[in-house]
Amino acid sequence: MDTAAPIALARPVQRTSLQSSVVWGSRVVTVGGGAPVRVQSMTNTDTADAIGTAIQVKELALAGSEMVRITVNTPEAAQAVPYVREQLDRMGVDVPLIGDFHYNGHRLLADFPDCAKALSKYRINPGNVGKGDKKDRQFGQMIEVAMQWNKPVRIGVNWGSLDQELLAAMMDENSKRAVPWDAKPVMYEALITSAISSAQLAQELGMPPEQIMLSCKVSGVQDLIAVYRELARRCTYPLHLGLTEAGMGTKGTVASSAALAVLLQEGIGDTIRVSLTPAPGEARTQEVVIASEILQALGLRTFVPSVTACPGCGRTTSTTFQELTKQIDDFLRAQMPVWRNRYPGVENLKVAVMGCIVNGPGESKHADIGISLPGTGEAPAAPVFIDGEKRMTLRGETIAVDFQAVVENYIQQRFGQGAVSIPG
Ligand code: SF4
Repeated sequence: MDTAAPIALARPVQRTSLQSSVVWGSRVVTVGGGAPVRVQSMTNTDTADAIGTAIQVKELALAGSEMVRITVNTPEAAQAVPYVREQLDRMGVDVPLIGDFHYNGHRLLADFPDCAKALSKYRINPGNVGKGDKKDRQFGQMIEVAMQWNKPVRIGVNWGSLDQELLAAMMDENSKRAVPWDAKPVMYEALITSAISSAQLAQELGMPPEQIMLSCKVSGVQDLIAVYRELARRCTYPLHLGLTEAGMGTKGTVASSAALAVLLQEGIGDTIRVSLTPAPGEARTQEVVIASEILQALGLRTFVPSVTACPGCGRTTSTTFQELTKQIDDFLRAQMPVWRNRYPGVENLKVAVMGCIVNGPGESKHADIGISLPGTGEAPAAPVFIDGEKRMTLRGETIAVDFQAVVENYIQQRFGQGAVSIPG
């Protein structure tokens, strides 16, 4: 008798959390409580430059950012926020804006009510709302404004700006233990305590718990995993997840992916941001692309059609398939802002671009549409597979252009209005 059980597909665990909403006009972005994990990003423009900031927010939104955070650090920046919002509304960009406040947020929110109103959410860092008796008072003032305008808040703790008075008190307490802990676990406790006690204070002031989100960002992968596992265990607030100061390029991408993948698989994280340092000249939107790719790779969301490609090897000496893969990937990504509405479901498309006959036909058959390019010594012909069947063979110098046309035609027929089946 066969007693073997089929191997189950690995699936992310679902964490039970409260559901929050971040709203602008008719745009409602639900967060937590089973909502899709949301992609966030942050501008690096001077917010006082309303036009420059609005342009970058639009770029981030078009790349797929579902909320965009802007720094509000000066009276000039606070004054510019309503104009940023106005510019976006004029351009038809309804992405909610989050105001990032440090040190003077209580004053800016009180002095610039149009700023408080134009923002959809406030980020409050309890590590720098004030010292001594000012701390709770100034934190409370920000919560009061949030309640007045019915805005949710993210209580965002960061180990680079952790509440030093709290940390000192916890270190002091630790020194009195029979066997004191290492400094790191004490710091983890301080991060989590700062976030949760601030949330409790906000609730005591009357803020509904579903209006509160938390984050405890650190820059080490294992530190982040340890802190968020415990934070998730101790509360039901939606959690914003990200490795702070992830770094640049490959390092920042890999570190963020490693940390976020572990936690997201455990159901931890309701919004994410990849805090990538852009290389000189690199688009700010790269952080949105990476965040989206992390969610898509884990099977949590689909944003753009996926392109499966082999790495190439000694069997293929030409760069044709590398160029074709890049062209197709760039093409699909560039079209998405328009295709999202025109071709509903197109983000689920799977394309394969393969270098030779070894895995080419097999992988292409697993995709919706795939091409197997000729490897070294193979006949100069590229069979194209559509819905698992070989439908045509492309040849000559125009393979790339011809394949792009085949993909576009497939998309129109499958995902366009009144879609019809693909002809053989
Ligand atoms: S499909 Fe062919 S070219 Fe691509 S990695 Fe495999 S053997 Fe090499």
